[in-house]
Amino acid sequence: MFDNLQERLGKVFEGLTKRGALTEEDVDAALREVRVALLEADVALPVVKQFIADVRERAVGQEVLRSVTPGQQVVKVVNDRLVEMLGGEQSEITLKTEPPTPIMLVGLQGSGKTTTTGKLAKRLKEKQKKRVLMASLDVQRPAAQDQLKQLGWQVGVDTLDNVPGEPPKAIAKRALQQATLGGYDVVLLDTAGRLAIDDELMREVAEIRDAAQPTESLLVCDAMTGQDAVTTAERFRDEVGLTGVVLTRVDGDARGGAALSMRQVTGKPIKLIGTGEKLEELEPFYPDRIANRILG
Ligand code: GDP
Repeated sequence: MFDNLQERLGKVFEGLTKRGALTEEDVDAALREVRVALLEADVALPVVKQFIADVRERAVGQEVLRSVTPGQQVVKVVNDRLVEMLGGEQSEITLKTEPPTPIMLVGLQGSGKTTTTGKLAKRLKEKQKKRVLMASLDVQRPAAQDQLKQLGWQVGVDTLDNVPGEPPKAIAKRALQQATLGGYDVVLLDTAGRLAIDDELMREVAEIRDAAQPTESLLVCDAMTGQDAVTTAERFRDEVGLTGVVLTRVDGDARGGAALSMRQVTGKPIKLIGTGEKLEELEPFYPDRIANRILG
């Protein structure tokens, strides 16, 4: 995949030999190809512009090494910067030293929020031997509550019983109380989603945040939605505050551009990626792998 961009850049630099340093013309020619690759990967336009300007500054004037072509050298600058901008290192879910740790999942309906809640419960239980309690705060869609309950059965994790008419922030408080009394390590709060962002949803999620004071507020978003995801992320960033992102449907056709957009817009690490519908298909996020995918 990665060779693709290198091949393209190879063509850009065809016939150019014996050069001392990368000139502005060299770099600009190469960056035109990089720009296309990023846009094809569905990276949001402002993020692409920022990235290109950044790489240009780093690449112009660099000594051309003997062992590589100018094309390979620009690709290396692009790749290194991309990995860095994607967060560099892998980032873990933070757990409180004093349990229970409240973790809130937010996002649009259909982003994969409930499925991710179930997957995360399974992961915490099996990989970290944690006792997990899940709670659905979606009071408008009983189907969402049932879905979480089903997931609880499947992964062998307890789900808070819903009481008709109870508002979301009260459910969050009750979940925390039950977790404290019952000796749970982690409480996963699956908040309501909407098809599109609205003020009421933002207010509701902010109230839940105030009631639960989550250690992690994770934005769940679909890697396939590309540019749209940016607006969603901005609202949640500004009105709720986020600690990280979970990118779902990374198994689909998406080239992973949403990862770069999300990281840049939220300024927060991508902590996990969903790579399929199955409950074990939740993986750590490795910036270098996604960088390769984005550069296609
Ligand atoms: P919610 O409305 O945000 O809670 O979304 P759901 O959790 O109900 O997920 C919506 C659909 O996306 C379901 O059919 C899930 O199985 C599917 N889904 C969730 N995560 C992934 C993923 O990482 N990959 C794939 N292929 N499908 C996913």
